[in-house]
Amino acid sequence: MIYFDNVSKSYPDGTVALNGVTLSVKQGEFVSIVGHSGAGKTTLMKLLLGEDHPTTGSVSFDSVNLKKMKKKDMPELRRRIGVIFQDFRLLPNKTAYENVAFAMEVAGKTDEEIASDVPHVLELVDLTKKMWNFPRQLSGGELQRVAIARAIVNHPDLIIADEPTGNLDPINTYEIVQILKKINDMGTTVILTTHNKGVVEALGKRVITMDHGRIIRDDSTGKYAL
Ligand code: ADP
Repeated sequence: MIYFDNVSKSYPDGTVALNGVTLSVKQGEFVSIVGHSGAGKTTLMKLLLGEDHPTTGSVSFDSVNLKKMKKKDMPELRRRIGVIFQDFRLLPNKTAYENVAFAMEVAGKTDEEIASDVPHVLELVDLTKKMWNFPRQLSGGELQRVAIARAIVNHPDLIIADEPTGNLDPINTYEIVQILKKINDMGTTVILTTHNKGVVEALGKRVITMDHGRIIRDDSTGKYAL
């Protein structure tokens, strides 16, 4: 599904963020990416989203080289990828329901589809009781669950979760990880970046360790080796 072929990325100031990264991720995998701050994790995600391109090497999604993808096809790629951020990035003036509904509106879904899918997806993240709350009326864990609902509502093939538990306490972290696991069990590929050793070990899935722009380990069984 995803293939990084000998990818290097240098920024204009000379910083080498990625250095010869080769990596493949199959449909249905759950992959955690760990590494110290500055290791290149965010750059890897940006290249995968087509927000930026490698200096050398190539990134492919379903065998299509993202650099060669036409501009008009980018929105379609973005719809196939749901993104979850550490800082939630919800719209403050919309309720939980409206935040999720808005993602469907942007994707061109009908009012009927929205009315049927939004409650369903909010139930999946156990937020039925709070769907009319605004972000300021929700806890960190609840905000992240809204963000997950928003990320999955258009049935993406891939979820990218960039430090999704970075602002959460251990109980909420555990809940978010369980939800991501459930989404993966339903068939969606998940790529998670995290600093949290407990998360990686609880998952027991593939772990890629990055350091100074390189992959230094790729374990199939959930070892956090920093
Ligand atoms: P991580 O997500 O693992 O913390 P990043 O991918 O954000 O790592 O950063 C990798 C390296 O690239 C760091 O040294 C960072 O300072 C640098 N970097 C990231 N983005 C930019 C940018 N836009 N311009 C210059 N350097 C950058």
